[in-house]
Amino acid sequence: MVEVSFQYHAEPASEEVARRAWSDIQTCREVYNHALTQEYHPAPDGDKPSYTAMQNKLPDWKRDWEQWGEVYSKCLQMAVRRITHGETVLKELKAKGYDVGRLKWKNPREYRSITYNQSGFDVDSNTGRLDHAVVDFSKIGRFHLTYHRPLPEDGTIKQIHLKKQKTGAWTVSIVVDYNPDYPEKPAVEDIEPEDCVGIDLGIRSFVHDSDGRAVDRLDLSDDRERLEREQRSLSRKQHGSKNWERQRRRVAEVHQRMTDRKDDFKHKLAHFYTLEYDAVFVEDLDVRGMLEADGNARTKAEVGWRDFITVLTHHGKKNGCHVVEVEPVGTTKECARCGVETAKPLWVRTHDCPSCGFEADRDRNAALNVFSRGLEDLGVVHSEGTPVETALPVGTDSVPAKRVVEAGSRCLKEPAKQASRQG
Ligand SMILES: [Zn+2]
Repeated sequence: MVEVSFQYHAEPASEEVARRAWSDIQTCREVYNHALTQEYHPAPDGDKPSYTAMQNKLPDWKRDWEQWGEVYSKCLQMAVRRITHGETVLKELKAKGYDVGRLKWKNPREYRSITYNQSGFDVDSNTGRLDHAVVDFSKIGRFHLTYHRPLPEDGTIKQIHLKKQKTGAWTVSIVVDYNPDYPEKPAVEDIEPEDCVGIDLGIRSFVHDSDGRAVDRLDLSDDRERLEREQRSLSRKQHGSKNWERQRRRVAEVHQRMTDRKDDFKHKLAHFYTLEYDAVFVEDLDVRGMLEADGNARTKAEVGWRDFITVLTHHGKKNGCHVVEVEPVGTTKECARCGVETAKPLWVRTHDCPSCGFEADRDRNAALNVFSRGLEDLGVVHSEGTPVETALPVGTDSVPAKRVVEAGSRCLKEPAKQASRQG
């Protein structure tokens, strides 16, 4: 069984439904803030109330604040549970070495969704209209969904989140528990090293792989320019006015577009790698993030990389491909052929081994190290030569990110064939 969230664009059936939905979301926010500031934070460390303990106070709170009783009661419980959930996330971040504060009181712009857990909703996907479904939320009303992707037939709906995005658009995310029909991953003993690939987070490019591909970062310069323009225009409008509100949505729309493009890019790239190979090896950057916290650009790239690994793992399941995270320490310093370490400052673009004479682009040398670590971790046997000799030699073919997005993965296939022919 897996839990998958399906997201749909949604339209409220009427203005009144939209008004009630937003009002209920804000009530959930008030409950969240109340539980956080009056129950959770005042309790001493080590003796924080559980969410059940806080939930049990809901009937009392509803007596004090009558309008809280107008919201479907399970939703209020879920609002209280967000505290426990948020706390877990903070703990995980802290364990990874991040400097985290504590959970904060939320303002209306920071709290934009309501969660229906197990009950209080009705999903109807047999409306007789193509790509259309209706969700009826208890105490709120009906939302029409653009039902482009049907829910799995044997699935059980666990939860539904109704959210008003910053753009003003509504989305409905349906969390379903089901048994997916994923292909089995190939048995390790049947995997040939040629059917594996090591991918390194590139410095100049987004990724660099052991078959010699370099995929450029997505070019977002047009979107960034537009964003600056819209933000400048927002700053000239009177805060809170109708024009300001309209402009604020425009800014949110550009943000959303950029997020969508980045997601799309990662999905296409992940789809390509997991279809093309039996196993994909990547660096486990959680570890590296802690060890080398140098500079903002790098940190940003790592956040993108972490996201990419999540997407890659998901596509790995769908396409029957192993995705293995390997130890990242030393992948740039180590020589991929002989293993001797050479210190390299960031500006040194080539790896030039003083010990064995192996020469390669810096990122490619790193990708080859990821490749051999992956073979070892997964247990793929390579009969002749070192992994590096199996993967060598190919030049670097740079693939512009734009082509990945526009043409899907097709353009990426050619260097792969070339690699196996020459290698
Ligand atoms: Zn060497």
